[in-house]
Amino acid sequence: MSMYDMDLDKVIRKINSKNAKTVGLQFPEGLKMQAVKIAKAIEDETEATVIISGDPCFGACDVSDWKMKGSVDLIVHYGHTPLPLKYEVPTLFIEAFSQIDVKKDLKKCLEEIKDYSRVGLVTTTQHLHLLNEIKDYLEDNGKEVILGSSASTRKGQVLGCNFSSIKDLDVEIILFIGSGNFHPLGIKLFSNVDVLAIDPYNSEIRKMDEYADRILRIRFARITKAKTARKWGIIVSSKEGQYRMTLAKELKKILEEHNMEAYIILADNINPDILLPYMELDAFVVSACPRIAIDDSQMYKKPLLTPQELEIVLDKRKWENYQLDEILFHERYQK
Ligand code: SF4
Repeated sequence: MSMYDMDLDKVIRKINSKNAKTVGLQFPEGLKMQAVKIAKAIEDETEATVIISGDPCFGACDVSDWKMKGSVDLIVHYGHTPLPLKYEVPTLFIEAFSQIDVKKDLKKCLEEIKDYSRVGLVTTTQHLHLLNEIKDYLEDNGKEVILGSSASTRKGQVLGCNFSSIKDLDVEIILFIGSGNFHPLGIKLFSNVDVLAIDPYNSEIRKMDEYADRILRIRFARITKAKTARKWGIIVSSKEGQYRMTLAKELKKILEEHNMEAYIILADNINPDILLPYMELDAFVVSACPRIAIDDSQMYKKPLLTPQELEIVLDKRKWENYQLDEILFHERYQK
């Protein structure tokens, strides 16, 4: 049995109701091994032909609609909730909720939060369906629980590029349910309260202070190194939800006003290989997915900074006001 609810019945109902003849399937890396099984089930149970997207997919910022436009009548995009974007091809989002049991870890977590009474609760797409149950459990155990909301996310949801739901939450601690360090790191840096991450896949419960300190030290080193850079690359992704050309042009102008050279590089997937031909540049700023500069920084030979980190290099922002990059609601539409 899959660890995720792929909601095949809903997909088949949608294909039949739209009378879709060709259907595109798009999966994030962790769900790609389900693709063939799902394609077979769809082709067995409907008249549709399936096309599986073979490209990497990291978020709802990256629905294959411009590549599949004209080839498919419907896209089924797994693993993410929709962003405030105009998707060109009719797209069905299947969240692929995790089937993992989170309750087993909550008891342990109560001990960790015994000194806190007002608790914020957030998660990623995969566990959104459990938030009310977790909230009830914490409330039954004497906590006041607050779920933040925002225009671009669901209630209690954070994205790697959008932490609006936890900003200004009036709480003493935030519990993050999910795997990986990036989301709880962002929560820590945007909230400035204690953050406890509960990973239901390995039952690990950890405070984020030490990890946040380590990442900030690495970022400080990258920023310091970039202070000697004279020639910059500004990276823009052509993915619909990551495309920030207006920002890139502003950054180019600012760098040139500081008597530096700056060149805009447009690419679909950003990775170290695409930058290899540009090693005469001293440093890069990424206007694409905000996770790239932080998560993948060790893979790049030259400093790779976020726009906010460039402000620190140029003395337009103080290190004390360090902030992660975000792609906010209005920027998703800005060209
Ligand atoms: S921009 Fe990055 S963090 Fe935001 S949805 Fe896309 S892949 Fe995720």
